[in-house]
Amino acid sequence: MTDNITGKVIVITGASSGMGEATARDLAAKGAKVALGARRQDRLDTIGQEIEAAGGEAVALATDVTKREEVEALVAKAKDTFGRMDVMFKNAGLMPLSPMESLRVDEWDQMVDVNVKGTPYGIGAVLPIFKEQKSGQIINVSSVYGHKAVATGAVYCGTKFAVRAISEGLRQEVKDYNVRVTVISPGAVDTELTQHISEPELGDQVRGFVKDIAVPSSTMADMVAFAVSQLENVDVNEILFRPTVQP
Ligand code: NDP
Repeated sequence: MTDNITGKVIVITGASSGMGEATARDLAAKGAKVALGARRQDRLDTIGQEIEAAGGEAVALATDVTKREEVEALVAKAKDTFGRMDVMFKNAGLMPLSPMESLRVDEWDQMVDVNVKGTPYGIGAVLPIFKEQKSGQIINVSSVYGHKAVATGAVYCGTKFAVRAISEGLRQEVKDYNVRVTVISPGAVDTELTQHISEPELGDQVRGFVKDIAVPSSTMADMVAFAVSQLENVDVNEILFRPTVQP
């Protein structure tokens, strides 16, 4: 394992599109064995088949990260199929931005469930395995908006600040059994994320902003590969990246 990626078993949530998909394809091409989770099984199956056709190894399981038992089933499938578990990449997320006065309560709930609750569910599913192995890595996805709050992003930013807090608390708890904890905070990347903004004018505005400046989803794959490939006693705690021109 000279590159420290080859042969590693990596569970990826939100693997059906955007940065999760790009990371799955890239890490599989680098020799990792990937377990793909998201709700859209058809997309996961296609991505998994394409990874295998390119010579990689992949399994896929429909997974809703707001359901703890489904996250556990995804991890169990990865471990049963490949014989071990090395990295949990909790990437699934939603960003339905809106001003709070719009009272889009269902969207607040969804963001809290997927972005926040999905994070400890991912952690809980792998910790017993990592503790026994005395090795493992948990990579959670925050955002530039997990570092600064902005109008129309009050709840989204809150969920992404929470991801960083959960990750840092976890890091302090698990460092003694050799578990690495990494948070990656992207800036604008052109994915399906902005399609869920239900305020029409705001949606157009955000999509236009992102399209103009975005970096490709493969940037995330590069960051994950960087964090995973370090020596086992090197824990890359935080990575923040954004398009150079992004404020
Ligand atoms: P995408 O919308 O392309 O990908 C989001 C993924 O999350 C999809 O695969 C989706 O799959 C999955 N997902 C959503 N809800 C659930 C759920 N309940 N259970 C399981 N999977 C779910 O967007 P990105 O690739 O951009 O997003 C990846 C991460 O990056 C997110 O956490 C996002 O907040 C973060 N981010 C993105 C930025 C950007 O500019 N794009 C900037 C900063 C952070 P499915 O619908 O099949 O379940």
